[in-house]
Amino acid sequence: MERYLMALDQGTTSSRCILFDRNGTVCGSAQKEFRQFYPQAGWVEHDPMEIWSTQMGVAREAMERAGIDYRDIAAVGITNQRETTILWDKHTGEPIYPAIVWQCRRTADICKDLEQQGMGDLIFRKTGLRVDAYFSATKIQWILNHVEGAKERAENGDILFGTVDTWLIWKLTKGRVHATDYSNAARTMLFNIIDKKWDDDLLQLFGIPKIMLPEVRDSSARYGETEPSIFGGPVPIAGVAGDQQASLFGQTCFDRGECKNTYGTGGFLLMNTGEEPVFSTHGLLTTIAWGYQGKLTYALEGSVFVAGAAIQWLRDEMGLISSAEESETFAMSVPDTNGVYMVPAFVGLGAPYWDPYARGILTGLTRGSNRKHIVRAVLEAMAYQTYDVVRLMEQEAGIAKLSALKVDGGASANRFLMQFQADILQTTIRQPQCIETTALGAAYLAGLSVGLYRNMEEIRQHWNEANRFDPAITPQQQEEKIRGWKHAVAQAMFREPER
Ligand code: ADP
Repeated sequence: MERYLMALDQGTTSSRCILFDRNGTVCGSAQKEFRQFYPQAGWVEHDPMEIWSTQMGVAREAMERAGIDYRDIAAVGITNQRETTILWDKHTGEPIYPAIVWQCRRTADICKDLEQQGMGDLIFRKTGLRVDAYFSATKIQWILNHVEGAKERAENGDILFGTVDTWLIWKLTKGRVHATDYSNAARTMLFNIIDKKWDDDLLQLFGIPKIMLPEVRDSSARYGETEPSIFGGPVPIAGVAGDQQASLFGQTCFDRGECKNTYGTGGFLLMNTGEEPVFSTHGLLTTIAWGYQGKLTYALEGSVFVAGAAIQWLRDEMGLISSAEESETFAMSVPDTNGVYMVPAFVGLGAPYWDPYARGILTGLTRGSNRKHIVRAVLEAMAYQTYDVVRLMEQEAGIAKLSALKVDGGASANRFLMQFQADILQTTIRQPQCIETTALGAAYLAGLSVGLYRNMEEIRQHWNEANRFDPAITPQQQEEKIRGWKHAVAQAMFREPER
């Protein structure tokens, strides 16, 4: 009998379920969007009950479409939007407040105060994170301070905290299991990634009672069984990881120095740094990639704030293209950008420049510049930004040079971009056949702990290449292009600070 792995992929805008066979082939899927709430400028919330109901809806739908029942499912793996914070009543299962989404900026001032009190360094050394409203700690603190009676109830053990994985596990087991995995715990800003436990000093700093926190387990481990009524019978929950870490696992970046980049709305680069955490001096984050057999694997994480979003901008604001795909045709129809560079610093610049005041710039225009050059320059900018983060990672991780970069995400479908990325990195770009790397990673983690795979080496055999792009320009040409890019970045940073 064929055995399937069920991946629950709980994202920021939709809940998805994908069923994989043991080769990692997609055998069925379903997806449903859910509501986003913006109660105030900069605030973002979700309804935890809607997260749960859409996730269950798509799971059942995917099973129906594939024509399978619970006995055909070897295990469930969960991957999720990270850092999003849910607090609920332990007895009734009712959330005490909407989920505060990772994007929500409501606690930005708390973070600024922490920085001003000089706590940034301590928090970084313990958690690998830069103090920011993204992470769960200040969101929990905010709910405890703003919901009447919450603090006392939490201290009495009547309120539980969870990131979205924990919430789903708790619901799937009808409240029997309150747990998370290392990769998700590492994004709360409460977890000490060196001592591998919730950090008492940080809990005290944020005023968070330990009793409300989930138990932290390996990412590939048996968490419990689903309540029989949910899928018609019990199924083991056996893999859990945050979305970016799951995608690193799905890309089978199992060895130190292996790296993946996701080209989505933004860009997410993760590099496996092995069993030792590497602490960046230039603003990359240190995180736990996964826990397996009691051992942790660490990663460096860097993001590009604006990647595919710049293509949306070309389409929606500038009207230069009518679809994202068209950017490829335009870019390929000219031999180069004719000296044009575009720096999409719409929200400032991240690693390695860290200039919140930088803004977008289009430079090098001449009378001969046309929209094809501009479109090409925007695509090239995605590759240059990735280049900047990759070089920084190599430096900080002490890796001489990446042997290859594995890619995924919506914009990785752009063949021009992939070729240009190979040229600029002077590194081979490898695209997998299965582009659902996040869900696949969760499925692999689950399959590994129930014995569907003997070990990670066996999983690696299932990574199949769909496309590969080798560098096609000389190192001299590469250097010249990068010089132009750096010059353009300097111009984007040349700006009066806002006061
Ligand atoms: P997310 O998960 O962040 O929503 P996706 O992985 O779905 O993102 O990718 C969507 C992004 O990729 C959009 O910003 C879109 O503009 C960009 N994109 C999609 N297809 C292409 C393409 N062929 N060329 C360039 N960019 C693309």
